[in-house]
Amino acid sequence: MPDIGLLASLTLARGGLDRVAERRGDEAWFDAVWSDPTTRVLVVHRGKARVRGVEEVDRGPALTDPSYDGASRGWIEAERGSVELVLVAPEQAAYDGVRVLLALEDGITYVALLVHGSRDPWDADAGTTWEGLREVGAALGDRDAGLFVMATALANWHAGHPRCPRCGEATVASQAGWSRTCPADSSQHFPRSDPAVIVLILDDDDRALLGRRAEWPDGFFSTLAGFVEAGESAEITVIREMAEEAGVDVDRLDYLGSQPWPFPASLMLGYHARLAAGSPEPRPDGEEITEVRWFSREEMRAGCEAGTVRIPPSISIARRLIERWYGAPLPGSWARP
Ligand SMILES: [Zn+2]
Repeated sequence: MPDIGLLASLTLARGGLDRVAERRGDEAWFDAVWSDPTTRVLVVHRGKARVRGVEEVDRGPALTDPSYDGASRGWIEAERGSVELVLVAPEQAAYDGVRVLLALEDGITYVALLVHGSRDPWDADAGTTWEGLREVGAALGDRDAGLFVMATALANWHAGHPRCPRCGEATVASQAGWSRTCPADSSQHFPRSDPAVIVLILDDDDRALLGRRAEWPDGFFSTLAGFVEAGESAEITVIREMAEEAGVDVDRLDYLGSQPWPFPASLMLGYHARLAAGSPEPRPDGEEITEVRWFSREEMRAGCEAGTVRIPPSISIARRLIERWYGAPLPGSWARP
């Protein structure tokens, strides 16, 4: 990727796969893909895929995350490429599900089969486990991360949008899994992403403001975030959300990049923002955020080293926003004690 001055190589934004969008409407070609033994299928069951390599790497302690559907089994922080997706030939993926075209790489077509029924017929083989993108995203290589992000986003969208928003009829997958079509009125519907801003506030003494959500244990901190509302620009969202969650006025926004966060459908837009002259002192809103705290670089480093301050795992853009300010990778995360 060229140097674009933004956060580079975000864990879930490792692009580069050829999505072959121009073939999505070619049903005969897509049918042929599913009878080609060189095609590789990623079977996704309720957001999880089979992976190889987890047994050899550390798994952090399970932590309930309010934006996650259920308790996480624990984040995995490991070298990129140390965990691999299990990709099978079509004949090994003969289950009912939504078929999705993912990418074409080096002459191999990668597809996903999105399954929501029982998993009994194909439980994990020896040496493999079923994992979600959150758990293993940081440990996957670039190709596998790209495939699993796409498959997760589409799996969540198909699962949550079974009916036509116009007439209520059950829709059917179309365009190689990239749309759904209503048989009653022929309307076509496409996957959506919900933009959200995620912001590290800095003051003129070069301190960073982090917040603790009500559900998190003491010492767990992250950047502040919120959804872009209907009819609102991202910049106005930053100003509004920082006022709502931390009671402060910000200006001098610095947009630093984005990454998909398909849990279920967010696109995180990352910013640094400066505390405005004359802003009130930060105070938590007391509902979503119960503690806000300024950190100097020294306090951040010492807290992370001692484990008394926990910041999000490397899969999140939040950690990258914090490390961008700090100027280097920080030790520890809430994946590890
Ligand atoms: Zn309809």
